[in-house]
Amino acid sequence: MLDRIHSIDARVRAYITLTPDLAMRQAAEADERLRHPDAPRLCGVPLALKDVLSTRNVKTTCGSKILGNFVPPFDATVVSMLRDAGAVTVGKTNMDEFAMGSSTENSGFFPTFNPWDLDRVPGGSSGGSAAAVAADECIAALGSDTGGSVRQPAALCGVVGMRPTYGRVSRYGLVAFASSLDQIGPITKDVTDCAILMQAISGHDALDSTSLQADVPDYESSLHADVAGLKVGLPREYMAAGVDEGVRGVVLKAIDRLTEAGMEIVDISLPHTEYALATYYVIAPAEASANLARYNGVKYGYFDPDSDGVEELMMNSRGTGFGAEVKRRIMLGTFALSSGYYDAYYLRAQKVRTLIKRDFDQAFESVDLIVTPTSPTVAFPVGEKVDDPISMYLSDVMTLPGPIAGIPGISVPCGFSQGLPVGLQFMAPPLGETVLLRAAHAYEQLAGVESATARKAV
Ligand code: GLN
Repeated sequence: MLDRIHSIDARVRAYITLTPDLAMRQAAEADERLRHPDAPRLCGVPLALKDVLSTRNVKTTCGSKILGNFVPPFDATVVSMLRDAGAVTVGKTNMDEFAMGSSTENSGFFPTFNPWDLDRVPGGSSGGSAAAVAADECIAALGSDTGGSVRQPAALCGVVGMRPTYGRVSRYGLVAFASSLDQIGPITKDVTDCAILMQAISGHDALDSTSLQADVPDYESSLHADVAGLKVGLPREYMAAGVDEGVRGVVLKAIDRLTEAGMEIVDISLPHTEYALATYYVIAPAEASANLARYNGVKYGYFDPDSDGVEELMMNSRGTGFGAEVKRRIMLGTFALSSGYYDAYYLRAQKVRTLIKRDFDQAFESVDLIVTPTSPTVAFPVGEKVDDPISMYLSDVMTLPGPIAGIPGISVPCGFSQGLPVGLQFMAPPLGETVLLRAAHAYEQLAGVESATARKAV
């Protein structure tokens, strides 16, 4: 795996930090453990970690210059869980700064390129993780998803990405962006690997007060349960204007396959969908503006050495350390929370959040699952949307509503448009990961044909 990384990562640029020595040590330990028949499922498997996950003694930048030299003294809970399961971690992957973005172009260091076409973005913000999996620079990876950052890059890179139910996976050690929305999720080559990773990282954690006290099902065995008779809702709002024609065609064909597998497609409506983007872009920046207040050059991270006095130190450190998109979000969030505007923006967004959640509650009274495209377009050219925040934000229009409602979602490759991968998204009620995996797996088994029609650039 390290050889593969050395031969192609100069072109893909998926990794910010490589940890070859650590990986070789872990691999040697895994060799020992593999002598025993009861070695855990992930023993010896090389994985990559999005650089938003704290790793003890390994630099964790969150894609930001402000954390450019930050070395955490502890591991995120998911990282400890993977280590306990015998996984080998090869490195930390590139991302949009503080996970704010949809193309990995907002990284404070360099952009990552899409393995299917190196002139295009891999999606984001977990673009490094998705590109690393797609380019065979790791077997699987972890990403984080606040509004789509696991599922959208998975779709754009032709791999599988799952966002678990809010609280299913511990957020302890995940650098916070928007705490009521952030979740860690796997990015994998297929749905079986996704189930295996979910098994390894799910469960209650006393270190995360929002973590759920629910039993963890056997995800891998749930893959094979029958899908015949499952009712799948197709929300008309998601197939409306704005979806690229090529993507629409591929997705509709995929939906036909679901029918072949015995699932029943039902026309549904999620009437508040059109407000999801606006709601997200009040709530997420509001939470981010509070979470990012800690980066002030005083205790850790980048500080401006030439500042005179504490106020100037904070101004200069934040002014230089944060990139343009992060500053935009801090300003949006600070405005939405400021006195006189709080009721009109933040409070109203929280009310609309409830309405969006009710749409899903109501839909799940009559369907088991919801199916949509994962993203309205295929991977776009590098540079196309960097100067147009709204059009960048729209790339997540199909993945934002789920996190607002706290529900899980998965993106699975469903074919190609313009020679580039298209993702099919399933959403399920809270803790519905098993039915998501089951449906995605059934689809994957039927769709082998579609997946062979294009070639990667690396
Ligand atoms: N693209 C969205 C944003 O920029 C979602 C990012 C994410 O899920 N971390 O906020």
